[in-house]
Amino acid sequence: LMFGKARTCNIVTVPEHEPSECNIVILGAMGSGKSALTVKFLTKRFISEYDPNLEDTYSSEEVVDQQPVLVKVMDTADQNGPVNCERYLGWANAFIIVYSIDNRNSFEACQQYLETVTLYSKGLQPEAPVTLLGNKVDMERYRQVSKADGAAMALRFGCLFFEVSACLDFLSVQHIFHEAVREVRRE
Ligand code: GDP
Ligand code: MG
Repeated sequence: LMFGKARTCNIVTVPEHEPSECNIVILGAMGSGKSALTVKFLTKRFISEYDPNLEDTYSSEEVVDQQPVLVKVMDTADQNGPVNCERYLGWANAFIIVYSIDNRNSFEACQQYLETVTLYSKGLQPEAPVTLLGNKVDMERYRQVSKADGAAMALRFGCLFFEVSACLDFLSVQHIFHEAVREVRRE
């Protein structure tokens, strides 16, 4: 009888957690690979030609450290640095700022995004974690931004830093998005 009772009790009290949500905004210069990274994360595929002016938000049900989370990714398409930032600043739980390691200008463009986003995020409770991401490491031969430069910039702004390629392995790309979720959970 005791056993029966305990079992019934267990079944009734197992909590049904709603999956939490995590909104991630992808920012950076045109051509740095924001859409390619977003599509890779969502579909495991590399799409080489993607409409450069298309800005959209996508959802994916993920499991990070055995916990479900609905990840929403806003793939932005700014033409001239941070403008109309209101559309994502209030929405975002985390920011990923992308440059291309074979394009110095795209790296320099990150600075403005980092300034805008970290200034905003520091005033939030909890803060929204920021990741600086060097993309296109498959283009090593044409590298214009050293890994040390990327790391130094990230250190200056107190953000995470990775290098990756949207056209190489899926798990490395997935790892970056999942790390952003982990950082949000830690805040
Ligand atoms: P966005 O403007 O930041 O969204 O950039 P896209 O995702 O549209 O990519 C711009 C160009 O870079 C496209 O021609 C992509 O095929 C290319 N691209 C994106 N990611 C990579 C990458 O990791 N390696 C290489 N070699 N090309 C990439
Ligand atoms: Mg794009």
